Amino acid sequence: MAINLIMLGPPGAGKGTQAERFARARGIPKISTGDILREAVHNHTEIGQNVRAIMDRGDLVGDDVMIGIVRERLTRADVRLGFVLDGFPRTVAQATALDQMMDGRDPLIVVDIVVPEAELVRRLSSRLICEDCGGNADALKEGATGEKVDPRRCRRCGGHLVQRTDDDNAVVIERLKVYQRATKPLVDFYSVRDTFRAIDGMQPTDSVAADLVAAIEAVGNNGGARGVLR
Ligand code: AMP
Repeated sequence: MAINLIMLGPPGAGKGTQAERFARARGIPKISTGDILREAVHNHTEIGQNVRAIMDRGDLVGDDVMIGIVRERLTRADVRLGFVLDGFPRTVAQATALDQMMDGRDPLIVVDIVVPEAELVRRLSSRLICEDCGGNADALKEGATGEKVDPRRCRRCGGHLVQRTDDDNAVVIERLKVYQRATKPLVDFYSVRDTFRAIDGMQPTDSVAADLVAAIEAVGNNGGARGVLR
C-alpha cells in the first residue's frame, strides 16, 4: 500500500523537517509547495513573479495556482509508492480538490503536528535556510554523523544559510493569523476520518519522528481509532 501522507500543522511546527526525514527513510518524494514556490521565485518563472509579493507578506497564494501545481506534481511516476505533502493543503478548497485527485489511489493519511503559538514565534524567528538549494538548516542536521561542519554553510550544497524573507517577525505574526483563519479549519475537516492522527510537536525531533512512524503504522494496522499519540 502506498503511503500518501499529509503533514498538517502551523508554520514552525516542524512539518518540513519531519516530512523530509520520513520521505528519505521511505524512499518516497517529499512535496513541499513552499519549496516549489521558492524555487519558482528564485528562477524568475512566471508563477514565481506572480507569487513573490504574496509570499513576502505572509499571505496565501491562490487556490487555483496551488491546486494546479499539486495536480501536475501528482501525475509523475515517483509518487507511485507514496508521497509526503508538506504545506498543502492549506485551505478547505485545496483539501477538497486533493480528495478528488486521490480518486483511485490509496487513502490519505493525515498527521497534525501540534505546537503552541508562543513556541512557533520563537522557532520561526531563529530558523535558517540555504539561499542556494532552499534546504532547511534544521532538517539537514538530521542524520549527522558528528563530523565538524561550518554552522553558516549548508550541509547539502555548501551555500550560505540565511533567514527566510517570510520569517521576519511581522510576517511571522501574519502567517500565524493566516494559519488560524484559513488552515486550522482543516483539522476539523480531517479529524473525523479514521486516517487522522495528531502528534505532540513539542517533543525532541527524534521523538516526534518516532510518533509520526507510530501514527502511520497505527493507521495502517487498524485503519482505526482516532487519538493523540504522546
Ligand atoms: P511554507 O514553506 O510551506 O511555509 O510556504 C511558504 C509560503 O508559500 C506560504 O506562506 C504561502 O505564501 C505560500 N504557500 C505554500 N504552500 C501554499 C499553499 N498550499 N497554499 C497557498 N500558499 C502556499
